Amino acid sequence: MTSGFLDHPDCLAHDTGPSHPERASRQTAVRAHLERTGLLAELELDRPEPADENSILAVHGREYLQLVQREAQTASTRLDPDTVAGPGSERAARLASGGVLKAIARVRKGDWSNAFVACRPPGHHAEKDRAMGFCLFNHVAVGARYLIEHEGLERVAIVDWDVHHGNGTQHSFEKDSQVFYASLHQYPFYPGTGAANERGIGAGEGATLNLPMAEGSGDSKWMQAFENALLPALEAFDPQFLIISAGFDGHRDDPLAGLELSSQTYKEMTRGLVQLCEQRAIGLVSSLEGGYDLESLGNSACSHVEALLEAKPRTNSGQALHPHQPGS
Ligand SMILES: [Zn+2]
Repeated sequence: MTSGFLDHPDCLAHDTGPSHPERASRQTAVRAHLERTGLLAELELDRPEPADENSILAVHGREYLQLVQREAQTASTRLDPDTVAGPGSERAARLASGGVLKAIARVRKGDWSNAFVACRPPGHHAEKDRAMGFCLFNHVAVGARYLIEHEGLERVAIVDWDVHHGNGTQHSFEKDSQVFYASLHQYPFYPGTGAANERGIGAGEGATLNLPMAEGSGDSKWMQAFENALLPALEAFDPQFLIISAGFDGHRDDPLAGLELSSQTYKEMTRGLVQLCEQRAIGLVSSLEGGYDLESLGNSACSHVEALLEAKPRTNSGQALHPHQPGS
């Protein structure tokens, strides 16, 4: 049993224009780096189908979905100051959400230990009723909702290590005790959310964990927060499935942010999460978010995949079979 890898050539047709940082060459850079390092040959490749309308509507409003569909029939327009949609965009975003759904299905079936979905556009800024920050549909939210509503899971965790806070994901689940959202991000920074005192609302209180990092933070500070705060909170939540919002824009060479991470940190974080999932016999799927310097994006994605490939085969399909009971 190996790790799965999903991308789709139609995601390249989401055309953001000649000078936009979220461009098609990001996706091709990830694949090219994996190919060059020989890692692609170790992965099992698959292609997503577009997420069905109901999966999207479990996270987004109908009017917003119709707006994206309408825009997809015309020339490129801006849905927010940073987010462009054109003829190929709705299909690309649906494929990216569908990639997470397919990866979840195949990991739960036992085909793969874990899987990496390297589609675009990214998703974690997308809100229920609006596009934001290069994102149209929130792929990790679509995946988590599916696991709760259709697979009957009671506890799903999302770890978001993109350098930007995943406002859309947090807002999707902040009132929900069944989905734990943990984010490490530069703060204060775009999109402005993600303060440490944002911990969830009502029944969801405590199921949101924000670990804001000051501009200029490097590997050791970041890993300290990951190991001392994020991992213990994740263990305490006791998830039945883990989804990673895998953005690589915290890298020191990234043009959009101000952290000083090396690609090695993405390997170490992945390793920590892979080990946690092995101990609990639960599934893991990661979904590409940001990362705008092609070289460091490619290298960081390779580091991530190297650690995914270290996973030992699971003895069950990641369903809630491990003996640890909630509350014990
Ligand atoms: Zn980002």
